[in-house]
Amino acid sequence: MADKRKSYAKFQCDSCKNVTHFVHKSKKDASAQKKLEMKKYCKHCRKHTLHKEAKR
Ligand SMILES: [Zn+2]
Repeated sequence: MADKRKSYAKFQCDSCKNVTHFVHKSKKDASAQKKLEMKKYCKHCRKHTLHKEAKR
């Protein structure tokens, strides 16, 4: 089934507040419904920082 409105999450660096990552979400994935936090590399901070999901 093709879904025209693709669901994706933005991940925002908690240090510099830049959005550095986009993650596609699956509607069937229950974990995609809640807010996510993860450590990711931020090119602005040039290190791994905590990233939080940002609202669209
Ligand atoms: Zn950053």
